[in-house]
Amino acid sequence: MKERAFAGNGRTSVFESMQKEEYDLLVIGGGITGAGIALDAASRGLRTAVVEMQDFAAGTSSRSTKLVHGGLRYLKQFEVKMVAEVGKERAIVYENGPHVTTPEWMLLPIYKGGTFGSFSTSIGLRVYDYLAGVKRSERRKMLKVGATLQKEPLLKKNGLLGGGYYVEYRTDDARLTIEVMKRAVEFGATALNYAKVEKLVYDGNGRVCGASVTDLLTGETGEVRAKAVVNATGPWVDTLREMDRSNHGKKLRLSKGIHLVIDQSRFPLQQAVYFDTDDKRMVFAIPRDGKTYVGTTDTFYDGDKANPTMTEADRKYVLDAINFMFPETRLTEKDVESSWAGIRPLIYEEGKNPSEISRKDEIWQSASGLITIAGGKLTGYRKMAEDTVDLVARRLQGRVQAGACRTKGMAISGGEVGGSARLETYASRVAGEGKAAGLSAEASLRIARFYGSNAERVYRYGDAAEAERLGLPLDLYMRVRYAVEEEMAAKPVDFFIRRTGALFFDIETVRRYKAGVIVLMQELLGWSDESAARYAAELDDAVRDAVVPQDLQGVGAR
Ligand SMILES: Cc1cc2nc3c(=O)[nH]c(=O)nc-3n(C[C@H](O)[C@H](O)[C@H](O)COP(=O)(O)OP(=O)(O)OC[C@H]3O[C@@H](n4cnc5c(N)ncnc54)[C@H](O)[C@@H]3O)c2cc1C
Repeated sequence: MKERAFAGNGRTSVFESMQKEEYDLLVIGGGITGAGIALDAASRGLRTAVVEMQDFAAGTSSRSTKLVHGGLRYLKQFEVKMVAEVGKERAIVYENGPHVTTPEWMLLPIYKGGTFGSFSTSIGLRVYDYLAGVKRSERRKMLKVGATLQKEPLLKKNGLLGGGYYVEYRTDDARLTIEVMKRAVEFGATALNYAKVEKLVYDGNGRVCGASVTDLLTGETGEVRAKAVVNATGPWVDTLREMDRSNHGKKLRLSKGIHLVIDQSRFPLQQAVYFDTDDKRMVFAIPRDGKTYVGTTDTFYDGDKANPTMTEADRKYVLDAINFMFPETRLTEKDVESSWAGIRPLIYEEGKNPSEISRKDEIWQSASGLITIAGGKLTGYRKMAEDTVDLVARRLQGRVQAGACRTKGMAISGGEVGGSARLETYASRVAGEGKAAGLSAEASLRIARFYGSNAERVYRYGDAAEAERLGLPLDLYMRVRYAVEEEMAAKPVDFFIRRTGALFFDIETVRRYKAGVIVLMQELLGWSDESAARYAAELDDAVRDAVVPQDLQGVGAR
């Protein structure tokens, strides 16, 4: 990677250089879909630029259930091809980035009168294993009542018949996106956040050949030119198609899903569970970093695409679902520490409710040549990127030579730890350097596991005196420096949400250290006091949105 090519304080020069070149490919949208396409294209030798109007992953790609999964429930809808394809991708995503993805045994309790009966679960999970090509040690097991309750004692006992036990993968969606984007940049892609496409640019024949882009942090505007343009804007794909005057035929229908985060002291779930709600929907409850998170809802949505938040009804729905399946917990709204809401960019199907609409992806091409990638899942990002770039390569044939897709066995940034089986050995080995940089053994290991093969780069930012001056723990100080200098974090919300996930899973750290982090970011990024105050207020708003339902804000709620 070119020095400072992905630095928060190098954004201006990135934008300048973007306007000087003609790229082979311009990708609009820096979620997992855009990041995947950028990596695929750059690694095939295409000169690639990516623009993202918010922070990378600030759209749907930081707001999912954070599972790399084949979508067991889609088998009920006979989406065999999609389950097979996406299911197979799970192992690839894991192998290429074991520091951001972990196998997670999932318990599917079976109840009298529930969605999944014992027989259908047994068959369904076997088909799932077969379609996804699951290795022997990870194939499904069927459990009797006693064994099911041993796995998760908090489950409702009434009507329990047993359980299915199978492997999914847990990830950090935003970190996955950032690591894919960093790898794309290592391959020479140019990527910029807070860079909004205002309009598309066309040549004399009406073919799309670039975009007019505004840097939303400086107000600067410029043109980015490219031989091919891909619209990877998730929930916004129709907005871009409107700009292109090609928004006819199939369209998106957005659906919102929320998750609640509860401390393990109130919801000591020991095992990930995929369960039926009272109204026969499927919900996940997943233990993670001392918390349990639960979701999701699935309701059609027409509100602000950039800032979906939970409502009181959403919160009640998920709390009711928890109390229905884990009756001893007796959770109330006071137990909710944090939350997030996301919107699914579903391809509309007449007469279907949100849960029934297919999650498959489609590529659309307009008369001007704009390529739109719509729908899909986080899990299938690599394959979606391969299909999209195959199309781009065919388009560019004769003008630009693109190589074959290489991403199947390619580590993402931080993933070069010698394969998934060696992550722990790698982390223990490299953690010694963190200790030498002044960290405790525990903090050092935590960083090694989190950043994988980039951990040594993070440790290099160790400066105990500076951390002390700012009142920050040394590991937090290192992480802020790394996020700003090497992951293009440009605002406090970027750091606390997309670079660390702290706003969801460690909101106390946000409250406790936000002042020190903002001072450090102000120094690194050269903000005026006014900008610093604005960014601090933006972070406070994000904390409030995570805690207080949107419709209760301003009515005296906490
Ligand atoms: C509640 C929920 C749970 C989910 N759970 C899972 C799961 O467990 N596993 C799974 O595999 N999938 C899951 N998904 C689906 C998955 O999250 C999405 O398919 C995926 O994140 C979509 O990524 P994307 O890059 O296409 O869209 P986004 O992440 O939304 O990225 C699009 C980006 O385009 C940018 N953009 C828009 N307009 C412009 C413009 N004019 N100029 C520049 N940039 C622009 C936006 O700011 C945005 O960041 C879930 C989705 C939801 C909502």
